[in-house]
Amino acid sequence: MALINDKYGRTFRTLRVSLLQHCNLGCVYCVAGDEALKAANSSHEGKALTVEELLAVIRRLHGQLQFTRVRLTGGEPLLYSGLPALIKGIRDAGIPDIRLTTNGFLLERQAAPLKAAGLEAVNVSIDAIDEAVFFAMSRRHSAERVIRGIDAAIQAGLDVKVNAVIMKGLNDSQILPLLEFAFSRGVKLRFLEVMAMGHLHQDAGRFLVTQDEMLRIIGERYRFEPLTRVAAATARYWRTDEGQVFGIIANESEPFCQDCDRLRLDSQGRIYGCLSSNHPIALELEEGEEAWAGKLAAALEQKQPLRFTGSDLSMLSIGG
Ligand code: SAM
Repeated sequence: MALINDKYGRTFRTLRVSLLQHCNLGCVYCVAGDEALKAANSSHEGKALTVEELLAVIRRLHGQLQFTRVRLTGGEPLLYSGLPALIKGIRDAGIPDIRLTTNGFLLERQAAPLKAAGLEAVNVSIDAIDEAVFFAMSRRHSAERVIRGIDAAIQAGLDVKVNAVIMKGLNDSQILPLLEFAFSRGVKLRFLEVMAMGHLHQDAGRFLVTQDEMLRIIGERYRFEPLTRVAAATARYWRTDEGQVFGIIANESEPFCQDCDRLRLDSQGRIYGCLSSNHPIALELEEGEEAWAGKLAAALEQKQPLRFTGSDLSMLSIGG
């Protein structure tokens, strides 16, 4: 049983681990421009924890919170060396549900070994099928490479979902092409409303395509019905008349803070209770159980009551 609860009954049941703070893509919602991209990729501010260091932290947190799931993210987690050993170590620590969020660039080669190490599922981010739009969103080529990664993950037997952040005037033309692609592969696609994070903290509104707007666009091509929301889930799902399912993660228009059960750990061993609170809490392995319990309670207090407000925290360092 989990040790701590807040007044809304929330606790930490899932752990998101940001393995490193750099990425091989420069997506416009994560980094501000070419200068920011260069800085993000050259500084690598702070050294990422090693596999053994990360496992020591994860084991102790799991002892206190009994996680049901771990999601590995970044930066780009496929750039983290020792990823298969980390996955195996997390399984051995007694957490079998291990998932990964990736941009898919390096997935074609890594899908099978990661599955063999014990990975259950991947969420692959792809914001466009059209190559020009893909480049405008990520500042890298190519969508086709990511699609090869998605196909390799399906082939390897991983449970695959696809994520697409939709931004007004940039890739809203891709909603239907992305759906067609996902339906053709039989994978669940989730559209994300853009979040007020990092350099977009005060500026996300002008790019926001709301859940209602997305549903209107999808409705031009498909008829669909809503499905019942699963507790603590980030996405709501709909099923088309043809039986295909898609989702929307509507952080802005339908926040899911009320039953959020996520604890985040960054690549330097700091925890965050909420994306809207940029106040990392450093965990030290030398500290005792009681000190960690106090820090976990402080992280839980960071959770917003019911509404996501965003923060200056860059998604590049904390992961989605
Ligand atoms: N590099 C990996 C990837 O691309 O999936 C993992 C890290 S990335 C920060 C994780 C997820 O966060 C991606 O799906 C990305 O699209 C999403 N993301 C980043 N910044 C965002 C923002 N401002 N609004 C919405 N989603 C965002």
